[in-house]
Amino acid sequence: MFEHELKTLLQANGATLVGFSEIGDNAPVGFSHLRYAVTIVRRLSDTIVETIDGKPSIMYFHHYRTTNTKLDLLALDAVDFIESMGYSALPIAASQSTNTDKDAYRGVFSHKTAAVLAGLGFIGKNALFISTEYGSKIRLTTVLTDMPLTAERPLITKGCGACEICKNACPAHAITGNNYEYGAPRDTLLNARLCSEHMKTYKDIGRGAVCGICMSVCPHNRRKKPISDSIKKEVSHLD
Ligand code: SF4
Ligand code: SF4
Repeated sequence: MFEHELKTLLQANGATLVGFSEIGDNAPVGFSHLRYAVTIVRRLSDTIVETIDGKPSIMYFHHYRTTNTKLDLLALDAVDFIESMGYSALPIAASQSTNTDKDAYRGVFSHKTAAVLAGLGFIGKNALFISTEYGSKIRLTTVLTDMPLTAERPLITKGCGACEICKNACPAHAITGNNYEYGAPRDTLLNARLCSEHMKTYKDIGRGAVCGICMSVCPHNRRKKPISDSIKKEVSHLD
């Protein structure tokens, strides 16, 4: 019932997209009463993403961290609004680099789950959230709440088709190439250990915390530059 006000506030403060969903039993342990989610999206700079060329860049590393900080601040705006209406709100860190379950390489809550349930896009073969407007060139955060919220868009479950650009571009061979099935475990798409170990090889660029190659090559991204002929050929196989 407060969707419009919340979206207007967050977009005025810099959110690129805002979505709402009912997450059911997906809330973290101890927060099962928070059954709804606000998803906040920030698009990444085209110019910065284009500096990723076979490896991350220092500019991308800084932009990645700045965008996460902006998302965390937007989440606080959502928390203030929700709590002022008398509901509970739990902001989830935009970058959950703390590995809460050793060897699982995952945070306390999957931003992608809420974003898919909000109908903002789908999960690609690169295991990243793909926005229908901006492709994978985005970052996400989530605020969980007991404020009833309703998704404004229908669920999208697929969108990669026969494309394998990210799989072929991944230097760690961490992407399986399988299409995402709604609810399927992440390891059907990605070997998170291989991905994490590869990121650590970029210690001089991104302190071992970023890569971005599979994000930057996705043809669903809005590009300023014309897409190359080789990518156009592969895109022609998409659904
Ligand atoms: S972030 Fe890099 S290493 Fe990880 S899956 Fe993507 S391309 Fe591969
Ligand atoms: S590069 Fe192709 S296969 Fe990978 S996420 Fe994008 S559309 Fe899907």
